[in-house]
Amino acid sequence: MQQRYDAIIVGAGMAGIYAVYHLQRLGLSIKLFEAGSSVGGTWYWNRYPGARVDIESMEYSYAFSDELQQEWSWSERYAGQAELSRYFEFVTDRFDLRRHMQFNTRVSGARFDEDAAEWVVSTSDGQTHRAQYCVMTTGLLSAPNKPEIKGLEQFKGEVYHTGLWPKEPVDFSGKRVGVIGTGSSAVQAIPLIAEQASHLTVFQRTPAYAVPLRNHPMPAEYQQKVKADYAEWRRKERYESFGGWVAMHYEASGLTTTMALDTSPEERRALYEDRWQNGGLAFYNVYPDVYVNREANDTLAEFIREKIRARVNDPATAALLTPDYPILMKRLIADTNYYEAYNRDNVALVDISKRPIETITATGVQANGQHYECDALVLATGYDAMTGALTRMHVEGRGGRLLTDHWAERARTYLGLMCAGFPNFFVIDAAGSPSVVFQPIFVAEEQINWVGDCIQQIAGSGRRSIEARPEAEDAWGDECERALQATLFPTVNSWYVGANIAGKSHKGLIYLGGMAEYRRWFNGEAAEGYPGFLFDGGLMQNAVA
Ligand code: NAP
Repeated sequence: MQQRYDAIIVGAGMAGIYAVYHLQRLGLSIKLFEAGSSVGGTWYWNRYPGARVDIESMEYSYAFSDELQQEWSWSERYAGQAELSRYFEFVTDRFDLRRHMQFNTRVSGARFDEDAAEWVVSTSDGQTHRAQYCVMTTGLLSAPNKPEIKGLEQFKGEVYHTGLWPKEPVDFSGKRVGVIGTGSSAVQAIPLIAEQASHLTVFQRTPAYAVPLRNHPMPAEYQQKVKADYAEWRRKERYESFGGWVAMHYEASGLTTTMALDTSPEERRALYEDRWQNGGLAFYNVYPDVYVNREANDTLAEFIREKIRARVNDPATAALLTPDYPILMKRLIADTNYYEAYNRDNVALVDISKRPIETITATGVQANGQHYECDALVLATGYDAMTGALTRMHVEGRGGRLLTDHWAERARTYLGLMCAGFPNFFVIDAAGSPSVVFQPIFVAEEQINWVGDCIQQIAGSGRRSIEARPEAEDAWGDECERALQATLFPTVNSWYVGANIAGKSHKGLIYLGGMAEYRRWFNGEAAEGYPGFLFDGGLMQNAVA
């Protein structure tokens, strides 16, 4: 029998868990569907060796409950995948949320039934379910990008994607392993695979900028200090972080407001060295002009390039590993012994920047006219980020409008929250939001609170639905584009700008105006009665024309 709920939530990652918590407290009947066998989302699927968060554990965690913040203790400065999974399990059980969740069930599609003003959601178990609202907590980096490399299907050995890693331990002992890709996932996995494998060949298309993570066991006194003042700590992270751009509670030397180019080389170097010693992503919090001015950016990029050269023994390998494009425009990587892995005798780097891999054979990889024998391949080739999880479903809005068509030319959203012609369909941490440059857990909490308020407004006013106005979507697309073009981000090929997926537009993917400005927009909407939205269809013809 078809079940009906007030809201269906899709995906039990960190956003979905909070959506269940928040919406059931508002008295809504809810159901969450999750393809995996438990909670955690990205942290459930990414079990590859070395998977670890690169934002400090005390920050990369929920802020919605002080009891939770006090009860949970982190064991490391940066939590590993297993600990993060335990944390999400703990939160789910602590608030008794599992009873609203159905696991091992993938949502394949959602169709808006205009007469009933309800979504009809199809799941992989062959069932359909109805709900007034859909809350899509499907993740930013959850649709694995399997590269279209000729011959991949004929490879006789094991093939793994970092984002779909098996639950059972994978043992590379005595094996010749090939890793394709050198992004964050590869950089974490390579040093550990190198320790196990008899030989490791890394196929690199673009070198990465990586800086030391400097992970260590969590000092008890530090954890106590943060817990004693967690509310203030969170407030600073959210509201006083670097220009509202990157959530980071960086105490060591405070925030910088001066420009790199107004600072002496000695002073700059001292700041960069301080960040280097601190470890992790503290480099996001340097001079504001590194984001917008190539010369300023080069001061930092050159500092990191020097560090890379110093970490790699062989100058030719070091040269291949040293990037020449602006830093921070691809996600900065925080590594543990990445460059040192290339100093091992059993690790080889193959540059495929000039000629892509020719073919994968039954026994290895053919590149640059040479054959590299492999027993196992690791595809560390990333994700169809921000849109892929949704476009891989069959989502049909008003008038049969498909989300894939709506997003064909650019990811059209208003505030990264809703789309014109897709009523009551909320997207969380998705395209058009600042999530990927801020802190996705914070953004999810704030967006879901907004969604909860919005649902209450609708219920209280006797209306049935809300959706973005087409002109508000256009304005938000322009706003995203204006903020993006003011930076160096479009000058570098990355998933931030959709460059890793053939034919994907950069438009509307990422909002770089800062979290403070983002809050101003969406709080303004709620305060002013949602002027950028239509209730009950309104001028619907415009939205689907
Ligand atoms: P990614 O950054 O997109 O890296 C993918 C890598 O695969 C790149 O080196 C890319 O080369 C290469 N590649 C893709 N297709 C290829 C092909 N056909 N042939 C050869 N090489 C190919 O993906 P990721 O490493 O999974 O990371 C994605 C994001 O997830 C990160 O940026 C980060 O935000 C997040 N993440 C975070 C952590 C953490 O918290 N520590 C860990 C893992 C991931 P090009 O650069 O030339 O495209």
